[in-house]
Amino acid sequence: MEKERILVVDDEENVREMISKIINLIGHEVVITGSGKDALEILKNEPFSIMITDIKMPGMDGFELMKAVRDQFPDIHFICMTAHGASHTYTDVLAVGATDYITKPFTIDEMRAKLNRVIREKNLIADLTQKSMELEKANEELKRLDQLKSTFISSVSHELRTPLTVIKEFISLMLEGHVGALSEDQREYLGIANKNIIRLTNLIETLLDFSRIESGKGLKLKFEPTRLMEVIEDAVMTFSQQLEEKRITVENRLDPDIPLVLIDRNRLVEVFINLIGNGIKFTPPGGKITIDSKGLTEKRDSLKVVVTDTGVGISPEDLPKIFDRFYQGGRTQTGLVTGTGLGLAIAKEIIETHQGVIHAESKSGSGASFVFTLPVFAIETIYNLLLNPMFEEAERDKVPFSLIRVEFWDQRSKRESMLSKESWEGVMYALQKMVRSVDTVIPFRNSVVYIFSFNDKKLAKEIGERVQVKLAQGSYIPKGTDVQFRTYSYPKEARTKEDFLKGCRLLLRED
Ligand code: ADP
Repeated sequence: MEKERILVVDDEENVREMISKIINLIGHEVVITGSGKDALEILKNEPFSIMITDIKMPGMDGFELMKAVRDQFPDIHFICMTAHGASHTYTDVLAVGATDYITKPFTIDEMRAKLNRVIREKNLIADLTQKSMELEKANEELKRLDQLKSTFISSVSHELRTPLTVIKEFISLMLEGHVGALSEDQREYLGIANKNIIRLTNLIETLLDFSRIESGKGLKLKFEPTRLMEVIEDAVMTFSQQLEEKRITVENRLDPDIPLVLIDRNRLVEVFINLIGNGIKFTPPGGKITIDSKGLTEKRDSLKVVVTDTGVGISPEDLPKIFDRFYQGGRTQTGLVTGTGLGLAIAKEIIETHQGVIHAESKSGSGASFVFTLPVFAIETIYNLLLNPMFEEAERDKVPFSLIRVEFWDQRSKRESMLSKESWEGVMYALQKMVRSVDTVIPFRNSVVYIFSFNDKKLAKEIGERVQVKLAQGSYIPKGTDVQFRTYSYPKEARTKEDFLKGCRLLLRED
């Protein structure tokens, strides 16, 4: 048994002496004192692990003493002594931080039992504290290694990208016949090289996305009103050869008139490439991949999209895990070893950054369906996905923020003028060049353009005037059309953040 150093505090001398003897007999070292004040003095100069104190004492009583000791020497454990018949309960004593209490008079066995209990508890706590410190240290180390790994992935991927781009360019030059005619074999081999470079590029992009997500920076998206059909066509095109080789058909059942979606076009191509790529990978030859829409969500602000295949499906055990990073499911059944297990994790991140949701449905053996939502292009989503986050960014960086509303008016009818598709494209092209790349230009219904700009009122007005002059000078708009604009700026024109956002909503809604 390890010897403990115990301080005994009791105002009655004979009691102190008696306890001292008992503790010595048990085999611990003991120091005795008659008052709380003296006890505190002694504790300042000598280390003790346990203090046994009477409760009822003149001057500082046991409760006050324990409180003072707990504040100054938090590692000391207490046993309280109460006289027989005293009114304190066990809970009173525990409430001030004592481990146990003992009623006077007591036998040596009773004291030994109490002391053993306190010592056991003290050792246990010391052990736990030690373990928790070790765990914390190990955790710190893991975090450091994890950070190192992320930095490593990020820098390696960046480094790999440049030489790969060069290789790709040269192979393209050769394939396009710029350096002389190619034989059949040369063309075939370069084609294979090219296909693998594309695979490698996709892999590197996946790793870069992964490290962006991991570092907490998140994916930076560029939202723009987009036709989903075009996104799907882009994605499907990258697989034309594989689809042909595996005799898999892609059926696009989307209605060409579905509303525009407010998305980051390139990121969504990535999502479709991942879903269709998986579909091809897990579907036997002769199968089919279908892309369809289930219409709008209940709130009517998102479109439900479904990608279904006729492949091996996903087992109920795998289903909840397939969106986890690095999860690759029951590979043994399919014998497939390609992939990183990151594709769906990134697809999920992209959809969620669009404030959408994604999930998978499958009955093992009868194909898999991936269902996700995308924001439709509307005032509400412009507000949620573009204006609000940009304004928050301005707030955080303490820069001004302005909303510029550009409208087109027919001079004769004095009514809003809807521009033709061609004029509209020209206007958008001109506007994009007139604002900084951090600002956003959003066309709405061929008659209004919103510009969200990190500028103050004065500069916002300047932008508006420049737009007016440029569009009138260049032949971007038909004759007889006026360009008008309004600006609304923070902090100049709204006292609070809430007021400004409310004002923006009104300005966006106005037709
Ligand atoms: P991987 O690079 O392994 O394809 P993903 O994150 O894209 O990584 O997919 C994770 C896992 O989900 C896959 O390994 C596979 O087990 C399962 N999975 C994904 N798509 C399908 C699908 N269309 N059919 C069957 N299983 C799928």
